[in-house]
Amino acid sequence: MAFSQFDRVPNHYAGNLIQRIKDFRLEEGKRSLAPTRLPIGQLEILIPRHFGFCFGVERAIHMAFSALEEHPDRRIHLVSEIIHNPLVNRDLQERGVHFLFDEHGERQVSEAQLGREDVVLIPAFGTTLEIESSLQRSGIDTGAAHFREHYDTTCPFVSKVWDRGEQLGREGYTIIIHGKFGHEETQATHSHTMQHTRTLVVRDREEALALAAFILGQMGEEEFSVCFAEKWSPGFDPRRDLERVAVVNQTTMLAEETQEVADILREAMRQRYGTERLEHHFADTNDTLCYATNWNQNATKALLAARPDLAVVVGGYNSSNTLHLVEICSQQMPSYLIENSGELLSPQELAHFDIHRKERISSEGWLPTALPARIAVTSGASCPDVLMNQVVEKLAEFYGYGEAEISAGLEQLSLVE
Ligand code: SF4
Repeated sequence: MAFSQFDRVPNHYAGNLIQRIKDFRLEEGKRSLAPTRLPIGQLEILIPRHFGFCFGVERAIHMAFSALEEHPDRRIHLVSEIIHNPLVNRDLQERGVHFLFDEHGERQVSEAQLGREDVVLIPAFGTTLEIESSLQRSGIDTGAAHFREHYDTTCPFVSKVWDRGEQLGREGYTIIIHGKFGHEETQATHSHTMQHTRTLVVRDREEALALAAFILGQMGEEEFSVCFAEKWSPGFDPRRDLERVAVVNQTTMLAEETQEVADILREAMRQRYGTERLEHHFADTNDTLCYATNWNQNATKALLAARPDLAVVVGGYNSSNTLHLVEICSQQMPSYLIENSGELLSPQELAHFDIHRKERISSEGWLPTALPARIAVTSGASCPDVLMNQVVEKLAEFYGYGEAEISAGLEQLSLVE
């Protein structure tokens, strides 16, 4: 297997055009958040300063491919999707990796079918203690140092959240996890944190407001139960367990929303217990978003200032960080989430994921017919560069441009100041 220049990700995930843009940014505007302009004839492609594979995803992919190389004679399993990108997951499956759970959480390989000689990889989101125990019953030693080093791809930024939850739990706070309850990372954080304290998962601003209403006595217990539908740790008693709270979050949430959730809860505690005792009732901590979420979201906001005509965001439909990039772009322009260039059906029609209806739809008249045009292209933290590369090439093709114009454009890269 050939790996890229960083010796982490297989070469077939890289894209020449995108690599040229990354190389350019290492030389110029390394510290600036200004997007890069790639002129292709009269078409301008704008690429944000930060996009694509993050540290944790590169590390997970590297560990998975290394396991395949090192153990050609052993069965290799993944607890579930290693990251939320269909190309990468399919690629691993085609190389013989089996998933223990499908995308709906249904078990595909039973405990009895696993043996101690099998290799099991924990995905980048981490996994629950229940699944770790199940693996141990099958003879897989998930506690061993070599397991953590070679087969546990849990991103260190995720385990950092678990540590934070543990520390705050030990200080006596109930942990409010701002995250999507069904998401593997939130499931894992919930499972690890509830070993130390009570936990409750809050999805968004609306749920934070509902929680605040309960804290302030404006909502009854029955309504609380309906609203949070058991998204809490066993034995959770809202009357007892909401006197002291601290917020941690899924690492890929929208930064503003996390801030809003914390602000709503802080204000509820202030109203309920007063300003003097606020620190005792609400742990004022920084968010636990990871660096990649912050970088990608900030770079995407900087892209808006350049006023593109539309945005194409490339990534998995179930990728939380990618969905948030689409949300940011949608504040200002038509924005389309696609998995790959195959969804750019023609200059008139594209297939894409509607983030509000949560389904794949097709849209017509999506591309400006007249030139000059300015299109923003970006990708989520789990998207291989090759997919973004193909999208830029296809967009150029729709305007009648080919290799010659792209090569000329790569010689004229600049920053959008
Ligand atoms: S998005 Fe953040 S937490 Fe998730 S794998 Fe990447 S670096 Fe780790």
